[in-house]
Amino acid sequence: MMPALDALKALREGNHRFVTEQRRDSGDVTARRRALVGKQEPFAIILGCSDARVPAELVFDQGLGDLFVIRVAGNIVAPSQIGSVEFAAERFGTRLVVVLGHSNCGAVQATIEQLRRPRENQSRNLRSIVDLVRPAIEGLLSGELREDPRALVQAAVRANIRAAVERLRHGSDIVEHLVRHDGLEVIGAEYSLDSGVVEFLE
Ligand SMILES: [Zn+2]
Repeated sequence: MMPALDALKALREGNHRFVTEQRRDSGDVTARRRALVGKQEPFAIILGCSDARVPAELVFDQGLGDLFVIRVAGNIVAPSQIGSVEFAAERFGTRLVVVLGHSNCGAVQATIEQLRRPRENQSRNLRSIVDLVRPAIEGLLSGELREDPRALVQAAVRANIRAAVERLRHGSDIVEHLVRHDGLEVIGAEYSLDSGVVEFLE
């Protein structure tokens, strides 16, 4: 299996191709599909937002079988997301996990709105998403950015990504063990809706 650093390099290169409109020819898709019937070896796990404008395979210029993608509004980390990461990291040996947030994330904006003007009739299911975004961004609402909506959303998106990375790293004994002893890396990244560039965070 590809080591985490090589996987990261492949994602960076793929995003560069996407941004510069030099996407790879997908080749013989039928042959590739058939080769993948019995096995898969995704080189990266992407936990991204469901936002229609951020499809992982496109923005990283990857094809069938390359990425194990988990998408959920707000790229939140709930038990089923942690379980999915455990599954892929253990079963396929994938060594890179990227939490992929993006600019102007609707789930983050909805959480800010909910914190400012709580709605009592919000659906319980939607609230379960907001509740997971909330802890990372609550503090920002009383800070110096509170009068600057643009900067506030920007900072909130980053804070939400960082919190998701932390929650994943420490979300289960299996993931923690793989990080500590087996070369698994969990990193955050932010996609710009405007430029198409994915910036990997420290
Ligand atoms: Zn989003």
